[in-house]
Amino acid sequence: MSVRTRIAPSPTGDPHVGTAYMALFNYCFAKKHGGDFLLRIEDTDQVRSTASAEAAILKALRWTGLTWDEGPDVGGPHGPYRQSERSAIYREHADQLLESGHAFRCFCTNETLDALRLSQKGQSYLGYDGRCMHLSPVEVRKQMDAGVPHVVRMKVPREGTCTVQDMLRGPIALDWTQVDFQVLLKSDGLPTYHLANVVDDHLMEITHVMRGEEWLTSAPKHLLLYQYFGWQPPQLCHMPLLRNPDKSKLSKRKNPTSILFYQRMGVLPEALLNYLGQMAWTMPDGRERFRVEEMVEAFDLSRISLGGPVFDITKLYWLNGTWIREELTDAQFADRVSEWALNRDHLMPIIPLVKGRVQVFTELAPLAGYVLAGIPDIDASLLPSKKVEAAVVRKVFWAALQRIDKMRDYTKEEVEAAFRDLSAAFDIKLRDLLRPFYVASSGREAALPLFDVAMILGKDIFRTRIRFALEKLGAPTEAEQKEWKAWLDARPTAAPTVE
Ligand code: GLU
Repeated sequence: MSVRTRIAPSPTGDPHVGTAYMALFNYCFAKKHGGDFLLRIEDTDQVRSTASAEAAILKALRWTGLTWDEGPDVGGPHGPYRQSERSAIYREHADQLLESGHAFRCFCTNETLDALRLSQKGQSYLGYDGRCMHLSPVEVRKQMDAGVPHVVRMKVPREGTCTVQDMLRGPIALDWTQVDFQVLLKSDGLPTYHLANVVDDHLMEITHVMRGEEWLTSAPKHLLLYQYFGWQPPQLCHMPLLRNPDKSKLSKRKNPTSILFYQRMGVLPEALLNYLGQMAWTMPDGRERFRVEEMVEAFDLSRISLGGPVFDITKLYWLNGTWIREELTDAQFADRVSEWALNRDHLMPIIPLVKGRVQVFTELAPLAGYVLAGIPDIDASLLPSKKVEAAVVRKVFWAALQRIDKMRDYTKEEVEAAFRDLSAAFDIKLRDLLRPFYVASSGREAALPLFDVAMILGKDIFRTRIRFALEKLGAPTEAEQKEWKAWLDARPTAAPTVE
């Protein structure tokens, strides 16, 4: 049987470097064994999944240079490759489990479940107690006929252990009592991740599942589902998670995590993959700079180390520098710079902002150069003003970051509305409220129109500049953040109409 691996991102946010990291290792493993690498979009969470996030993931992964043999954009014999288009398949499989007695319908309301949770305080097993498993067929029928909303849950043993064979860790025993009666089908008839993931990995003939170690605790449920269906499970390989330099799990609150951020900063895709390849892996000859093809050639799971790999921007930029100096000819350098940002498509949105402000082209660089820059150094004393003192600027920056994080599409209208909202919440005139953001985003007091600049910079660079400015004034403590959140939640927001 030929090797088939996959990357299965959920389109719920910015394309994460962790996705490229997992894609790279899945790709290398498949290609080393002459197999196929697939891309599947796991958009079963209808509330959080967006088409724009999916488009961004595809674009970002394509930019890295990785390719997939099957996927929503390239097609293939096991499609559709987008889970939202496969609902009927999951429903059929849930029905199968109901019929074979491996799953049951649960009619409990949220109130019942909340009360249950409260009553479990202090007990070791927390979670649903499986009460609906004992309903008689007649009772189930009655509830169904009355149209009572319900979910489908899987049955899980209440004693003993499940042994997960992990390709990197060997056998791991996990207690069944720690595994809940997982919901497989929600009351809207759509599947949860667990059902959809197992059904698709089987139907798409995935032989090896390489994914982040945060999924290890889900493995017992998945293995049990394979057993219930009578299917051979794939080999499981849980990769160590990327970490911030302080060893905590890589998060955008501490480090930019979006692939698009690194693209905009001018990291070469080869260097990004090279650096991600160095996470958890070393070349047999210890060489630091290598291409994906070389990694494929040398790939061997026994060279993966489980120690938490640190994603350190300084090291990535250093490596990128060596790629630029040693791998690019001058002509390639010129081409790459224009592919990056010095091209017509990228410059066009900047033109309307600068055209009326210059007499000769030489004035362009000082006026708009910051739009192309990374994270400008700023003079913290420029951030506060008579109207908005430093302590308030910190709180405003923090609140703006919360709002930006929550944006679904990051359009100019959405950004503008968010700032109007903050202006109402803080009771500070919009002009005064925006002033420190001009400084944060440009390093200067006078700058181009903020909302336009926010679009040209993109969400990641814009938010990173604000975060950097906030840190210049002093990063907020946990206690401050808690207090600010409570304060902000209690504030009035602006009317949705624009003045
Ligand atoms: N959709 C899951 C994620 O976003 C996939 C996990 C897996 O690879 O099984 O990480």
